[in-house]
Formats: sequence, C-alpha cells, structure tokens
Amino acid sequence: MEATYDITIIGGGPVGMFAGFYAGLRDVKVQIIESLEQLGGQVSAIYPEKTILDVAGYPKITGKDLISNLKAQLAEVDTEVKLKQTVLDVESVGDEFKITTNQEVTMSKSILIATGVGSFNPRKLAVDNADEFEDKQLFYGVTDLDKFKNQSVLVAGGGDSAIDLALLLNSVSPEVYLLHRRDQFRAMEHSVKQLQESSVKLLTPYLIKGLEPVDQQVKIIAEKMKTKEPLEVVVDKLVVNYGFKSQDKVNDNWSIDLAKTKGQINVSQTGQTNLKNIVAVGDVATFDGKQALISTGFGEAPIAINHLISNLYPDRRGAMHSTSLNK
Ligand SMILES: Cc1cc2nc3c(=O)[nH]c(=O)nc-3n(C[C@H](O)[C@H](O)[C@H](O)COP(=O)(O)OP(=O)(O)OC[C@H]3O[C@@H](n4cnc5c(N)ncnc54)[C@H](O)[C@@H]3O)c2cc1C
Repeated sequence: MEATYDITIIGGGPVGMFAGFYAGLRDVKVQIIESLEQLGGQVSAIYPEKTILDVAGYPKITGKDLISNLKAQLAEVDTEVKLKQTVLDVESVGDEFKITTNQEVTMSKSILIATGVGSFNPRKLAVDNADEFEDKQLFYGVTDLDKFKNQSVLVAGGGDSAIDLALLLNSVSPEVYLLHRRDQFRAMEHSVKQLQESSVKLLTPYLIKGLEPVDQQVKIIAEKMKTKEPLEVVVDKLVVNYGFKSQDKVNDNWSIDLAKTKGQINVSQTGQTNLKNIVAVGDVATFDGKQALISTGFGEAPIAINHLISNLYPDRRGAMHSTSLNK
C-alpha cells in the first residue's frame, strides 16, 4: 500500500487545525483525523463561550468564534478533514506509516501529532448526591450562555477559568458568586483585577460540603476553612470549575515507541520526536519551558510542518511568507 498522504495530522484541536491550514499552504497532501464529531478540541468541547484574551491579534475572542475562524482559514486549502475517527494505531512500515482508525487504514509519509490532553473529563464535585443535580442545577462548564441568562449562579473554583466564567456569567446574570477554598486566586493578575472591580460576590475561603434541592433551585451548604463556620447560598445554577482529569495523554497502545515525559511527547525546537518524520505540537508536546497555550501551539505548528517538508522534499525551497505560498 503506497502512502496517500504526505502528512497526517492526528487531532483536530486549534493547533491541529492551524497545522492543517499551514500544511495546505505549502501544497502537500494532508489529512486531519479527529475523534470527536467536531473540530476545535478543548476549546469547542469545554469553553466555547469563554472569552480568550491571549491570542495574538484578537483583543478578545470567544472560543467558538476562534474555532469558527480557524475553520474558515482551513477551508481555504485542500486539507482533508476526517471527523469521528479515532487513531487506534500508528505503525512504521519501511520509511512510511500505517495509520489505523476505527474506520479505515491509510498510509502517510509523515505524522504530526496534535492530540492535546487526549480524552478529558471535568473533576467532579465530591458531594454524595451531586449526580442528582447534574445538568439541572449543577454544571461543569458553560457551553450555552443562554441557559444562564437572568439566573442566579454560584461558580466554585479559583483558577483562571473559574474567574473567566464568573465574569462571563456576570454579564448575563443578576447575581453571581465565586466560592473558593483559598483567599488567593490562581489566575492571571489582569483577571483577578477585573474580578475585584466587578460586582461578583466573593466567598472565600469556603469549601462546598453538601447540596439540597429548594424547589427548582439548589441550596449550597459550605463551610469556612479552619473555623468551620457554616454558609448557605440558594441559587438557580451551580457551576463547578475544579479543572479537568486527563484519561489518556497519548495512546500508549500505538506500535510506535515515542519518548515521553509524564505522558507528554518529548520534542526538539522543530517539533521532532525521537522518531524520524514524526513531529508533535500543542498540548501533547513538551520541551524545556513549554507553556500549554493556544498561541504557543500556533507558533509550533509552522515550524514542525516546515521541518517535515524539508525532510520529505529536501529540494524544495524553505519556509516563505504566506503571500508567496498562496497559489
Ligand atoms: C477551561 C480551559 C480554559 C483555557 N483557556 C485558555 C486561554 O484562555 N488561552 C489559551 O491560550 N489556552 C487556554 N486553555 C488551553 C488550550 O485550550 C489548549 O492549550 C489548547 O486547546 C491546545 O490545543 P491542541 O490542539 O494542542 O489540543 P486539544 O485542544 O486538546 O485538541 C486535541 C484534539 O485531538 C483529538 N484526539 C486526541 N486523541 C486522538 C486520537 N487518538 N485520534 C483522533 N483524535 C484524537 C481530541 O479529540 C481533541 O479534539 C484553556 C484550557 C481549558 C481546559
């Protein structure tokens, strides 16, 4: 079986999408394989409504708008997108790679891995009856802001995304609380300042101990850290933002033997893994000083694609500006 693709991109998160666009600009045959039914990775699945502040060129952009722009950009090139296909195995066959998904087998001359954090799930609220409230009063993210309009909401958590959510909800809800078990928030200084200047009511340092139904609402029973002083708040909706647990970082069952550190693939500054013609970018890749951010992944993608192309086609010209690449 001959290689049909020059580059196979595994993972259609923001970084895989941008890599797919860039590879298309360089006029090579590319496929993106994504296991979910939609593109956009964590951004589409976890925080489509959140406002992102740290993508260059956008003072503010919601997750869903960023992904929609990436889709429009990807549509400018011939990169093939295959959704609802999970890569189950990657094997070396001579100088090429055999990629087996749950639907088909394809051959590729090279691979760019952009599988992010793998499959992920929210850290749940450790309260016995939490399941009874889930998707009614209790949520682990905000995928549809309309559901929260004119509702009183308590957000639990103290990281960047909990603060972002509290500020986002504060724009549509009459009453927003932010409950955190510490007095300090683990978030960007800019967001903490915005929070302090907002009308969000801060409840710190408290820990949620129980939930009780009150008509269509939920009573949150909390306890102050150390003093154990009780607190009860009744709201329409509770959003718990305690972060996410990753199930599998990179599929350990793949036949190829990738060098990893704590589940992430070790790469050089060109995205090169320990295996020739396999690069990794975005959240799945690690190197000294790596930050798991969209913008760092966007920077890694063109370097890794250009690296693969110079391996596959050494006679081709190196990287150019996009205007010279556009046919
Ligand atoms: C709540 C939250 C808020 C955040 N806020 C920000 C922010 O404000 N700014 C910022 O820069 N970053 C933020 N991040 C981080 C940012 O989302 C990630 O850095 C970014 O999504 C990484 O993109 P990626 O394409 O590398 O991976 P991902 O987004 O994880 O996408 C990987 C894709 O690969 C697919 N995949 C995995 N395994 C396979 C397989 N075997 N076969 C096929 N497909 C597979 C997955 O389904 C997924 O769609 C936030 C993250 C979270 C959780």
